[in-house]
Amino acid sequence: VPKYCLLPTAKTVTGRSSSITNAFIVAVVPVIEPTEAEELEALGILGMTPTSIRCAYCGDAHTEWDHLRPVVRGKEPTGYITEIANLVPACGKCNQSKGASYWKDWIQGPAKLSPKTRAVAGLEERIERLVAYEAWKVPKCIDFAAEVGDELWQRHRKNWNAVLDLLRESQDLAKEIRQIVTAKHAS
Ligand SMILES: [Zn+2]
Repeated sequence: VPKYCLLPTAKTVTGRSSSITNAFIVAVVPVIEPTEAEELEALGILGMTPTSIRCAYCGDAHTEWDHLRPVVRGKEPTGYITEIANLVPACGKCNQSKGASYWKDWIQGPAKLSPKTRAVAGLEERIERLVAYEAWKVPKCIDFAAEVGDELWQRHRKNWNAVLDLLRESQDLAKEIRQIVTAKHAS
């Protein structure tokens, strides 16, 4: 049967599971404010000044600062945190495309909208600067359970699991409702 119209697909409550997981992780990640000297040093390593900040991956206008080492991978915290040594200016395209990949694999890899895929100019130099940036400081890497104690950490995990369980339960009910109303309205 030919299809001419690209309709929205059916959505699910559980389609929000990964953003819920991200929320439970980023909500506990500490944010360490850099000093002005650290900011200038960071920009210098990237070949930038406060008035010439660009995406460190592709050179487009920057819209955010991206965690060079992701704070979430495989639905778990990596332990890396929000600190200048783990942040580079980025554009939305790169941030979205990179996801939880290791930056060096992604930047030269075939991912949709990766700098390699977009044939970004001066990629080798960008990679060199990012390698230097990575070597700048030893990144903090936190074991949350060890830092706050098992009791507190397990309470957080319990809430996190309860929300995910409720999403699944809610999806079963939503599906039942959608099937009833779809049956009444399908021609
Ligand atoms: Zn970019």
